[in-house]
Amino acid sequence: MAIKVINDKCKGCTICVKACPFDAIEMKGKIAEIGAACTACGVCVAKCPFEAIEKVEDENDNGVDLSEYKDIWVFAEQRQGKLMGVALELIGEGYRLAKEISDDTKVCAVIVGDNVAHLADECYAYGAERVILIEDPLLKNFTTDGYTKVLTDAINEFKPEIVLYGATHIGRDLAPRVAARCNTGLTADCTRLDVRVSSYIDFANKNTTLDTSTLDPNDPDTGIKQTRPAFGGNLMATIICPRFRPQMSTVRPGVMQKREPVEGAKGELVEYKPTIAAADIRTEVVEIVKSAKELVSLTDAEIIVSGGRGLGNEEGFALLKDFADHIGGVLGASRAAVDAGWIDHSHQVGQTGTTVKPRIYFACGISGAIQHLAGMQGSDMIVAINKDADAPIFEVADYGLVGDLYKIIPLLKEEWDNADALFDASAK
Ligand code: FAD
Ligand code: SF4
Ligand code: SF4
Repeated sequence: MAIKVINDKCKGCTICVKACPFDAIEMKGKIAEIGAACTACGVCVAKCPFEAIEKVEDENDNGVDLSEYKDIWVFAEQRQGKLMGVALELIGEGYRLAKEISDDTKVCAVIVGDNVAHLADECYAYGAERVILIEDPLLKNFTTDGYTKVLTDAINEFKPEIVLYGATHIGRDLAPRVAARCNTGLTADCTRLDVRVSSYIDFANKNTTLDTSTLDPNDPDTGIKQTRPAFGGNLMATIICPRFRPQMSTVRPGVMQKREPVEGAKGELVEYKPTIAAADIRTEVVEIVKSAKELVSLTDAEIIVSGGRGLGNEEGFALLKDFADHIGGVLGASRAAVDAGWIDHSHQVGQTGTTVKPRIYFACGISGAIQHLAGMQGSDMIVAINKDADAPIFEVADYGLVGDLYKIIPLLKEEWDNADALFDASAK
């Protein structure tokens, strides 16, 4: 698809120049000219009051027949025979998107590994309608070369419309390589995915990079709208991949909702025999050593006690640890506390840390910067302790305690055992 100005109709009004979100239009004399930065988003076509701009089939187009691509794939990342939580979250999200696209669009979990067939049932339980199983002894452990090869081959054979990956270390390594091999784009760290423009407009605000009111909901070229924070979280950018397939996104753990599992659910199993040889893989996994950092499981924690710059020093975390241990929680932190060297980055919550959704989140001495909120505002209950009554954290808190955390935390610890009713997240 390409965008063309019909010179005879152009009146030189320059509306399209201002409307183009990619600065791709220039006036050449009194006629608009489309430049190389054009992404064929179609905004100018809808904006021109004289119908002087049109979408045309491009002779030099990439040759991708979009109609050949169907279904949504989720890379069901497993480590040592155990599915990652984000894979189940993405199966739920994929299911939702598939039903919005059409009744016969399926969500498929792609399991890559060796002796991993037992994971199919868990994928079905969480919503997968089909499982594509890619097994080989050479795929036992993740290697960038091996997984890229087999996934790319499978994509080229089955042609999925959308491929979703968790934004884990593995997902972030794998997705861009597969995207490059498939000659398509990738949107990293998405926080929202939408099929229809109508649902997207509800969410969109003036910060978005596309003028969504001009997108045609029935235009199959538009594809999914992939929204992610940009410019330090101050702006939400919505990105489309209208001309290439598959559309690919990575999504951070904890952002999407798992579906309620249906025990005993069944789907279709497709066993894909990969073509892979030892020579295709340039690295060898000698040993897998779990670092202490990996033991901090913020993603699955029910209670998180987070500390920020308001702790004043490293010792403040000893107080929080004592409280967290008492109530069965784990330690989180703001970036300011991490940057100060008071705690390891693996504890950081937020846009450049982990996204969390515990039942209770204690924010202690944390101001509530947007980048921190991005990682914790999905928590069931937020309890904020801050000595500044105007701190932005109180805007998202369910309970706000104004005062010195060094006085409040010991009191909370003392009262905790009697405070079930107050902190019963299910009552929220
Ligand atoms: P501050 O903003 O300094 O707040 C400290 C708070 O403690 C204040 O509100 C103060 O009133 C209170 N306080 C002080 N003493 C006490 C006391 N004795 N008792 C009670 N309260 C007290 N931040 C993150 O957290 N996570 C991220 O992932 C993240 N990613 C970022 C990415 C980018 C691109 C950028 C630009 C920034 C990012 N940040 C992130 C940083 C973010 O903008 C803030 O700077 C940071 O969150 C501030 O941390 P804080 O709330 O601990 O510190
Ligand atoms: Fe020409 Fe239409 Fe652009 Fe106006 S909006 S300059 S008429 S192409
Ligand atoms: Fe700009 Fe989009 Fe028009 Fe291309 S199609 S010139 S990117 S508004």
